[in-house]
Formats: sequence, C-alpha cells, structure tokens
Amino acid sequence: ITKPLTDLDIANNATLKPITEIARAAGIPEDALEQFGRYKGKIDPNKIPGRPDGKVVLVTATSPTPAGEGKTTVTIGLADALKQLNQKVMVALREPSLGPVFGIKGGATGGGFAQVLPMEDINLHFNGDFHAITTANNLVSAMIDNHIHQGNELKIDPRRIIWKRVLDMNDRALRKVVVGLGGPTQGVPREDGFDITVASEIMAVFCLATSLKDLKERLSNMLIGYTYDRRPVFVKDLGIEGALTLILKEAFKPNIVQTIEGTPALVHGGPFANIAHGCNSIVATQTARKMADIVVTEAGFGADLGAEKFMDIKARVGHFRPDAVVVVTTIRALKMHGGVDKSNLTQENVHALLLGIKNLERHIETIRNFGIEPIVAVNRFVSDTEAEICTLMEWAKKNDIRIARTNVWAEGGKGGLDLAKQVLEVLDQPKQFAPLYDVTEPIEQKITTIVQKVYGGIGAVFTDQAKRQLKQIEENGWSDLPICMAKTQYSLSDNPKLLGRPEGFTITVREIIPKLGAGFLVCLTGDIMTMPGLPKEPAALRMDVDEKGDAVGLF
Ligand code: ADP
Ligand code: MG
Repeated sequence: ITKPLTDLDIANNATLKPITEIARAAGIPEDALEQFGRYKGKIDPNKIPGRPDGKVVLVTATSPTPAGEGKTTVTIGLADALKQLNQKVMVALREPSLGPVFGIKGGATGGGFAQVLPMEDINLHFNGDFHAITTANNLVSAMIDNHIHQGNELKIDPRRIIWKRVLDMNDRALRKVVVGLGGPTQGVPREDGFDITVASEIMAVFCLATSLKDLKERLSNMLIGYTYDRRPVFVKDLGIEGALTLILKEAFKPNIVQTIEGTPALVHGGPFANIAHGCNSIVATQTARKMADIVVTEAGFGADLGAEKFMDIKARVGHFRPDAVVVVTTIRALKMHGGVDKSNLTQENVHALLLGIKNLERHIETIRNFGIEPIVAVNRFVSDTEAEICTLMEWAKKNDIRIARTNVWAEGGKGGLDLAKQVLEVLDQPKQFAPLYDVTEPIEQKITTIVQKVYGGIGAVFTDQAKRQLKQIEENGWSDLPICMAKTQYSLSDNPKLLGRPEGFTITVREIIPKLGAGFLVCLTGDIMTMPGLPKEPAALRMDVDEKGDAVGLF
C-alpha cells in the first residue's frame, strides 16, 4: 500500500519556475521586482504601470467546522482554472500566521494540487513581514513604558493603556502579564498583555493602508491609552510614527510567489477573520488589479466574518467592490452543521446534509444582502457520495442558486473549470453592490444591522463595560467608523456550539475597542480571545527536519 501524498509531498514534487519568469509573464517591469532567493520576491507597487483595474472575485465559505472547508484551496484552483481558460489572472492571499501552523489548523497555502509555492517558506517566516509588524508593535510598547519611566510628561495613566505587546504564536500564558517588576531601574510596574500578531492594530493598518503616506498617517492615529484625566493618547503624541513606518517600509511591498500551475500570486498581510478583519492587504489586491484582468482573493472563515468585513471595511477603504463572490462549502461540513459528529463524516447521510444546508442558505442570503448573487462551490472530498452531491445540486437548482462542483484539490485548475466558467458569466452581469450600513449611523444600529442581516439573530446586548466604552467613544467623536466584529468562527451566533442556522439569539458585546489607525471599532463578543492557545496535541509535535535540511510533517 502506498501512503497518500501529503500537501508537502505534492509541493516538493512540483517544478517551480524562477520568480523572474513568473513576474515577466505577469507584465511586472524588471525594476519593480525584488528577489528573495529564486522563487520569492517583493514588488514595488509604485513601479507598476497604470492600466484599467481588474475585477475582484471574493472567495468565502459556510461556517467552518473541524472538517475543513478549503477556501484557500478553491481560491488557488479557481485562479488556475481561469488561467486555463486564457484569462489574465492573479491570486491575492493572506500570509500564514505561525500560531495556527504549530497549533491545530495547519498552513494556509492551499492543499493538494491547488497550492501556492514554495509552501514551506510561505508557511514559515516567509519574507519577514510578520516579524516587521511584531517589531513595530513592540516598539510602541517599549516607547510607552520608557516614556512613563523617564518622567511621564504626557501623564499616561498606566492603568488605562490599551496597547498590548504581540507575538506570532499561540501562547495563552501571555494573555495577561505584569511588566516593569524589579525596582526603580526596571521601569514602572503595570498590567499588560499579549495578543497574537495577526490580531494587532498594526496588522490591520498594514492591510488597510493605501500608500506609504497613508500607512504613516494611520500609524500616527493609533490610540494607545488615556491620561490620568482621561484624555486619549496617540502614537503621534509619542512621536514614533516615522520610526514605525521605517520598520514597515520593505514589508509593505507585496510578496509574489506562484501556484503549482504557475499562476502569479500576491501573498501579503494576514489578519485573522474572527478577531480582526480577515483580508490580505489592500496594496496587494490593488497591485494585482493593475496587472491582471481578474484577481481571485480569499476572506477568512465564513461569510459572516471575512466576507462581511471585506465588503463593509476593506472594499469601503479601498474604494472597490467585489465583482463576484464564491461561497465554498463541503458535504462534510454541511453534514456537521446537520448534527453529524466528526467521527461519522465518511458515512452517507442525506438527511443530515439537508438539515445542514440551512447554514449555507444563511450565508447565501448574506451575500445577497450586499447586492451580489453568489456562486456556491462544492469542494469535493473523496468521501462524498453521489447521492449526497445530487441532493445538494438539486436543492440549489430548486432554489435558483448558482452552484459548481470543484475538484481542484485532486486535479488542480482542471477541477475548477465549471466554477471558472460560471464566475466569468457572473463577472459580465451588472450588479448593485452596497455595504450593509452607513458609517454615520449610530454604533448600536450598525452592530444590530450586522447581527440581523448577517448572523440571522435578533439583536445585540451590551455589557456594562461595553456601554461605558460606547459612551466614551461617542464623547470622543469616534462613532463614524465601520465595525469590526470579533466573534467565534464556528457559529453564526457568539456561542461556538450552536452549529447550522441558529435562530432567535442575541449577540453579547463584551467590549468595544477603538482602533483609530485602522479606522474601525472592534466589538468583542462572547468569549472570543485575541491570543489563542495551543490544543492538546499541537501540530508542532509532528514536525521535523530531515538530513538534507528539508521540512518533515509540515501538513
Ligand atoms: P480554508 O482556507 O477554508 O481554511 P484550506 O484551503 O486551507 O481551507 O484547506 C484546509 C485543509 O483541507 C488543507 O490541509 C487542505 O489540504 C485540505 N483540503 C481542502 N480541500 C480538500 C479536498 N477537497 N479534499 C481533501 N482535503 C482538502
Ligand atoms: Mg484559508
């Protein structure tokens, strides 16, 4: 018996083209490409000649289950399929965080024959962007503590600092820490905490900034805390926006790599979609649009998280709109939403499938609420039965929903041709995209709109702490910003155990944190954490390096 190929085996067997060749074929001028070894590079967006912007295809999904949905895989496979149909296409993806790599989820470079390469490098450190973001974030922390130590001219109240240190690792022990212990020469003791890098405001700023100038402006506007008399203190008060921009200036250039089939891919920035806004950088998306007629991009987790934020935050800031939306789902995931346990997923169960379809139905309604008619992509797993697939296809037909079977994991672009053809049809149709709310509406109303039109709940309830913060935000004149919901990815509600399509629920807003550089208000709901923990058996336990220096056990 031969062992099935892992993602790493398939990646290692692929023949890569030099990145110079990929860049040349994409029309990237030679002086715009900065090479990082033979197969990776960065491109200078300012050196890309202007041309009409390409269209944007957004890939999202039903609510994720431990069974895995395959958005990144389908994003890559769809782009490869469009290339096979002679389209000038590019992929835009987020960079993987080391937290999930060593934790439970694994990498973020696709799977099977739909991967971006070199997967090992992209999953591990890549071109150093996350290190730059982590360093910039922690310079702010170091400057705050030093400022207080040196006499605290700004009168920063150490008890009211909202800025946290970050690390790109799942490390629950660092959620709450005390810094500055050890006497007068070690600084002033205060409570602090760590978030994961991908939840940091600098990551959000990095991904939403439209130029280096805008990056600096946003960095300078980041709120770090309050003074003893409750006045807000910003990064610009510390005078470090210049240094932060300097740390980030090279990282800010989008990274270019290739898919297994040689389609160019920009992989840049990587905020999580549950605790942050969940999309790759605007610079990468917009740079890709300057070079390709179609850009296929992914937003994280289900359509209630990444896609909602893509439309209400990213598209608003970037002044563009998605021209087509693909909702990825799997038979396995829908069966789990219909009540099947993870251990029984390989058994045919049409009844559970039909129950679980309600989750898909909710996400389709969400996309329609933005004025776009979605295309459902059924990501084929070997365990799917013909009866199950037919049930799903018939349900779609009966309800007038566009649907395509995809098999890109097993076949690469060839397995995504039907989906690609349907995407091309939709791209040609007129559509009336609009964000769900106007930023000038009251904060409670914006949140209620998201709860009702995206999650399918009744409304939101606010804890006393959230009410106090809401008042403070209003008094400071920061209300006219979009909302970035931080919510569990597993359920449409804020309770991760409620699968399928829960109804009649409310969302509890625990905290509202103004992120004035990113330009949104983060609402923490339920028990969501901005620093994840590792599972009982972290993926790290399976990893190693062989005698040749190659990775082992990396997915
Ligand atoms: P997402 O972007 O939705 O989180 P990914 O595309 O990263 O999902 O896929 C998650 C995991 O599932 C990857 O390890 C990938 O190899 C695997 N996977 C995706 N699609 C399939 C499929 N059709 N069959 C088997 N495994 C798949
Ligand atoms: Mg993904």
